[in-house]
Amino acid sequence: MLPLPPPPEPPESTGERPRPRPAPPKPPEQDPEAFPREWLAFLKSNVFHYQLLSKAERTRLRNDTQALIARKDWEGCGGLSVTDEMKVTIAAQACLMLLGQEHDYFGHVRTILIYPSSFQASDERWQDEGWLPEAAGGQAVYRGPVILAWDTVLAEGRDPSLGANLVIHEFAHQLDFVDGYADGTLDLQGEHAERWQEVLNTAYNQLRREIRQGRETFLGDYAATSKTEFFATASERFFTQPAKLRHFHPALYQVLSATYAVEPESWFEGNE
Ligand SMILES: [Zn+2]
Repeated sequence: MLPLPPPPEPPESTGERPRPRPAPPKPPEQDPEAFPREWLAFLKSNVFHYQLLSKAERTRLRNDTQALIARKDWEGCGGLSVTDEMKVTIAAQACLMLLGQEHDYFGHVRTILIYPSSFQASDERWQDEGWLPEAAGGQAVYRGPVILAWDTVLAEGRDPSLGANLVIHEFAHQLDFVDGYADGTLDLQGEHAERWQEVLNTAYNQLRREIRQGRETFLGDYAATSKTEFFATASERFFTQPAKLRHFHPALYQVLSATYAVEPESWFEGNE
């Protein structure tokens, strides 16, 4: 979903000097008793990726999941009571995106709101009857909450072959917002930032061209609505259908792999 409110467009050039990308921190030692046994069962049943990860990545994912849960406010909406299962399932999917990076646990996000199913987003879309609130499965609000529909979160967490992941989509918007802009530019520096801009612009323009020509595309029409939706959708495909993303968009896969500092294609070998 589109973020609200739209942040400003970026200046032509920041003129900042490149800064080396920091190495990912070593995961802290984990007390095996610290991660509750029932939470582990939720990871195994609801987060398909968990079984694909190396031992070190699993340890890091458990640690990050636990920390993310503790750092955020969790609120149920539409009559929903938030359970530990919901927190673990959402936090672990979001933390997949942080596995390779030094990070602050999505520091700009204080609250995660959960609806049982799709909800009325504050965006409005022109429909035959006039301007109506739009039903949404998720929303990322600039400097605000992430809002998610639990039924979609659960279905997509269990089955990456769907190629969609609401949690990854909305948290990708939050990563996009870190630099203050909702335009697909990320908080990158130097050559990496330039390479990302080049690949983003080329792939986005190519997608819009193909859609105008009526062609079927791997990334889909929604990714062509704006660069922030392009980045969020490409992130979904990167984590759920990495081999297909590499096949259709090798440069995009490569630059996302450098950005997230993980290789999901290797996780899925024999599984995608
Ligand atoms: Zn979106």
